[in-house]
Amino acid sequence: MKYYSTHNKNISVSLAEAVLKGPAPDGGLFLPEKIVKLPRAFIMNMAGMSLPEIGYAVANFALGGDVDSGVLHDIVYDTLNFPIPLHRIDEHRYTLELFHGPTMAYKDVGARFMARLLAYYHSLHPHTSTVNVLVPSSGDTGGAVANGFFNVPGVHVYVLYPQDGVSYIQEAQFASLGGNVTALEVKGTFDDCKHMVEQAFMDEELNEQMVLTSGTSINVARLLPQTFYYFHAYAQLLKDNKDANDIVVSIPSANLGNLASGVMARAMGVPIKRLVSVENVNNIFYHYLQTGQFIPRPSVYSIAPALDAGNPTNFARIAALLGSVDNVRQLIHGYSYSDEEIMHTIAQVHEQFGYVFDPHSAIAWRGLTEDLQPDETGISLATAHPAKFSETVESAIGENVEMPLQLVRFLRGTRHVTPINSGYNALRNYLLAHQ
Ligand SMILES: *Cc1c(COP(=O)(O)O)cnc(C)c1O
Repeated sequence: MKYYSTHNKNISVSLAEAVLKGPAPDGGLFLPEKIVKLPRAFIMNMAGMSLPEIGYAVANFALGGDVDSGVLHDIVYDTLNFPIPLHRIDEHRYTLELFHGPTMAYKDVGARFMARLLAYYHSLHPHTSTVNVLVPSSGDTGGAVANGFFNVPGVHVYVLYPQDGVSYIQEAQFASLGGNVTALEVKGTFDDCKHMVEQAFMDEELNEQMVLTSGTSINVARLLPQTFYYFHAYAQLLKDNKDANDIVVSIPSANLGNLASGVMARAMGVPIKRLVSVENVNNIFYHYLQTGQFIPRPSVYSIAPALDAGNPTNFARIAALLGSVDNVRQLIHGYSYSDEEIMHTIAQVHEQFGYVFDPHSAIAWRGLTEDLQPDETGISLATAHPAKFSETVESAIGENVEMPLQLVRFLRGTRHVTPINSGYNALRNYLLAHQ
């Protein structure tokens, strides 16, 4: 399978090149030229399959021509070694808990899969230089990517994060690892971190000296494994409810990576009737659905900080996959909620159902609840464990949220932090001195 750039269909590269480059050289994002549709018989048979069995079958359909099947088997089984339970909330509504991975946020699957794929490519050419993964992070991405790549041979991760811009536990999740993970604390904002990384990709001289790729959802290797969620969700539903019709899936959106994966999963045959994309007050995509205009603007802080994106990266993929505003509107409904509405939703669901959502997952639930018609079956995606945002959640429900051991472990570790100045030169000099 070839991968094309959303800026120019004539740019066409192999999967290996797409994964090792991150953004396309023309600034576009890579997408597969064809999306393979899985047989209906396979889909209807998934109820009896485990999560890694489903993941492996799907990966084989999508990537089998590019990666040896045995290798793909190991990558998928190694990636999906934690459960993704579908929790039934009432007769028609479910939530899929995507937060049982090492950092307890939804990006673990994409990060782990990408890390193992890169390690495989490196093992094919063991004498080539290290692959350097750059990832600007305002919180959760850094942790997921750092943990996904920790101790993976041939790969080094640089997390750039704003000084004073991430929570104590978020910093612990990437800064307590050491080894092949470098935590660069930038004397600046998240936007500064993003710009520094963007400039590194455009610096031809630097790219001749070292292999650089992106660890964010710019990288197509992060998106492909996220299609597994949708297959697995449907499989769980088949198990629970034998006559589930086409489903409605609601997603808390920031850079629209999970939404793009949902659009791909539907094209691959998952019976998805509609997707619901839910944002906080940084509602660029919602605004696009309303007006047809995609207008990025500076992000503002919210109590669902992983959704504070002012220029959603994967919009280019959604547009390329669906073709026109009308097609986008037909498949995707949008919602946007304020901090107050998020707090109210967390409290209300806790009171009514005894279930505790984190602020991001609460947004998706609320969107689903408003969008779902009486004869439909809906699933909202829960993207973070409530303990990751315990202050907000505790103040909404008036009860303590227990910190899982998995998170406590990070807090106990020693931090290895390298402060660097804001501005591209500081990053460039650091990378060249430490390659
Ligand atoms: C990254 C993240 C999201 C948003 O995902 P996108 O793919 O960027 O739209 C939602 N919730 C949590 C907890 C996240 O970490």
